[in-house]
Amino acid sequence: MSFPRHFIALVISIILVTSLVAGCANNNDSKPESVAEIIEEEFDVVIVGGGGAGLAAAAAASQEGAKVVVVEKMSMLGGNTLRSGGVYNAVNPKLQEKQGIEDSIDKFFQQTYEGGDKKAKEELVRLMVENATTDLDWLESMGVEFEPEVHAALGAMWPRSHGTIGSAGSPFIDAFKNTAESNGAKIYTNTTAEELEVEDGRVVGVKAINDKGQKYLFKANKGVVLATGGFSANVDLRMKYNPNLGPELPNTNQPGSTGDGILMAEKVDANLIHMEFIQVNPFGDPEDGSLLGCLFPSVNDMIYVNKEGKRFVNEGERRDRITEAQINQPDSTMFIISDARSLPKDGVSLFGEDVEQLIEQGKLVIADTIEELAEKIEVPADNLKTTVEAFNQAVDTKHDKEFGRPANYLTQKLEQSPFVANKRMPSVHHTMGGLDIDTKARVLNKDGNPVPGLYAAGEVCGGIHGANRLGGNAITEIVVFGRIAGISAAKGE
Ligand code: ADP
Repeated sequence: MSFPRHFIALVISIILVTSLVAGCANNNDSKPESVAEIIEEEFDVVIVGGGGAGLAAAAAASQEGAKVVVVEKMSMLGGNTLRSGGVYNAVNPKLQEKQGIEDSIDKFFQQTYEGGDKKAKEELVRLMVENATTDLDWLESMGVEFEPEVHAALGAMWPRSHGTIGSAGSPFIDAFKNTAESNGAKIYTNTTAEELEVEDGRVVGVKAINDKGQKYLFKANKGVVLATGGFSANVDLRMKYNPNLGPELPNTNQPGSTGDGILMAEKVDANLIHMEFIQVNPFGDPEDGSLLGCLFPSVNDMIYVNKEGKRFVNEGERRDRITEAQINQPDSTMFIISDARSLPKDGVSLFGEDVEQLIEQGKLVIADTIEELAEKIEVPADNLKTTVEAFNQAVDTKHDKEFGRPANYLTQKLEQSPFVANKRMPSVHHTMGGLDIDTKARVLNKDGNPVPGLYAAGEVCGGIHGANRLGGNAITEIVVFGRIAGISAAKGE
């Protein structure tokens, strides 16, 4: 058995530290202790980040028979998948035909590509929309259950969003984690990856440190997968690429979204693309910017009004356009107005929040009439009444002459009490830019060649969405590219 150079160096450094301690201890006449400065462990695949993409990669790599470790800096797994609406966009004729929804892979491709202003890498978009459908089976085989009908999530552009049975994104996380662990994957939480270990131009491992100060070198015989997410929570980094997104704007992300993987990969010559494309979500909570406290009705079931009680945008629009319109309203504020159909039958919101409590806290405001609702949220009652009447008329005529909401989103009048209002503000949500990858999820360098041994998946990557991400495509991305990265790394391709 031959040992790589750095391993021998490590052993020597441990012996040195040990003998130094032993030396001191001997002077003090007490028993010497051995101190491991760095714990070294060897795996086939080392995955940095235990969010959706990292865990999907762990599930896939472990299914390929690889010995896998996941390194997560926070105390819990799940990343932003647990903070998102958790919907998965895919063409699914089995469900869509029953609902009379016409769809195709090409349509999904066009909407994603054009929805991102044709900036994305076409081959990555194509791969994502194709694998989205085939990966439905993979997800179901691991225990993810979907609702019997698809809908259009905010900014999804078409009814192909699959909600799960369970709390938002948690069924994905549970399924990946259980699969990976049952195949022997090891998971370290509270452990932050700090640097990529490189030997002769190949990424061969990851240096990390845990919350107790213990250092690790996780060696990867086959590959390292970066799945550290985006950088919405790193104000300096986001301002470096988009100076308009300063500290006054909250974000919807978990605090671990600080762009670590991008910074680590930059040091090994990785190419970054589209860093300036950053999505601001119109559905931020007015107090903390999160997506909590929202019922996430389907586009068909809601309108948005400003503080004057007036609509200001086609609710079926792209997210960036909705947010742009929202920012031009008084105090950048909007209310989602929906009716009884948006109230969950089991009294629990998408994020597992108790709806009664949300009403008590004033996050959700309900009323028997539109006038009463207007009074409660302090918008002019006459205006709101006129707005709702005009919208209901647009549903009748299938024509929204004011804002051009498409006919397929004009299917439900707002007419069943209680009516519901939910105040929302802009909040930084998704960074579309990041590491440049190819169709095998290999990280590319500035010359367009793969960085040997380095793979990436999820929001840490750029080039998949272009200038704007469709709602529901982030979960699709983590599943499709997480799986590809896991398989590629396990094969050492
Ligand atoms: P994605 O949707 O692409 O999976 P997420 O943001 O949901 O991205 O998940 C990324 C995960 O990576 C988060 O759980 C985050 O805490 C973790 N992470 C970020 N930086 C590091 C790091 N340096 N070391 C370990 N884990 C990290």
